[in-house]
Amino acid sequence: MLFDIHGDIWTDVTIKRGLGRKNIIRNEHLDRFKEGGLSGGIFVIWADPPYDKNPRERLIESVKAMSCELWESRDILKVIYNSNDFYEALNENKIAVMLGLEGLSSIEDEIESLYTLYQLGFRHASLTWNEENGLATGVKGNENRGLTKKGKSIIKIINELNMILDVSHVNEKTFWDIISETEYPFIASHSNAKALCDVPRNLSNKQIKAIGEKKGLVGLNAFNEFISIEPANKTIDHYINHIEHMVNLIGIDSVALGFDFFDYLESETTDSFTNGGFNSTFGLENITKGKYLINKLSERGFSEDEIKKISYKNFLDFMDRVLK
Ligand SMILES: [Zn+2]
Repeated sequence: MLFDIHGDIWTDVTIKRGLGRKNIIRNEHLDRFKEGGLSGGIFVIWADPPYDKNPRERLIESVKAMSCELWESRDILKVIYNSNDFYEALNENKIAVMLGLEGLSSIEDEIESLYTLYQLGFRHASLTWNEENGLATGVKGNENRGLTKKGKSIIKIINELNMILDVSHVNEKTFWDIISETEYPFIASHSNAKALCDVPRNLSNKQIKAIGEKKGLVGLNAFNEFISIEPANKTIDHYINHIEHMVNLIGIDSVALGFDFFDYLESETTDSFTNGGFNSTFGLENITKGKYLINKLSERGFSEDEIKKISYKNFLDFMDRVLK
């Protein structure tokens, strides 16, 4: 059983529905989810390049595509708002979906729209993707710029609504600004350790420890460029090295899986921000490898109880700490 705390499923759904197709999850993902043992995940809306130039419009298109898809899929998907809903989804034999927002540049000029998005069912948000926007600064923005005044205000709203705040993608300055602003624990849903792979999207040991101290969660990313600089090391074994590193730093209760699988995206999208095309991580190419990962974790000495924590239970406990 797996809960993937970061998947760009709505991007795939939005692109394909835009071409006139329907039932994308039922026809193209459901069997693969089942093969990999996926029970649920945070499915995010993201303004995929080139639509990031007009994020508000892309948000509206994506919400429409998502809503049509959720209605068509109501016998196979259940939108969840807390840990109890997750277990209900399991009983109903449905995939448990938490609705998430990767980046809020779409509402930077009208932050009260977050109340609207909350009413639509969203319970998770990050302030930026890689860009700097009116709220905060992503990893590709100015390193001396952090959270803005408006960003501080939207964090107050996130706290007020008890939504899950996600710091994957923000730069270090924004990260430390967020630490001093937020009341609640937060997650880095799809980031790895800089100590093992020194790229801007990964976290320093100091950041990882700060997340652990706040009783937050780090979800490990299966994207090859965040696993190792060395081409030969972009493997499932090195993915597990990142898990071990995190567990050693902040304990077994603060680690989760946030795969960020690229097969949910079109190659024109991924080519716009990867180095020389995408080659997947050997042994962990897509969600169908979920059960293989569980076996590998067991081979590496993780107990059954520890594997349960990493693969879904820690996120359920985290929901209980934050969501109301
Ligand atoms: Zn991302």
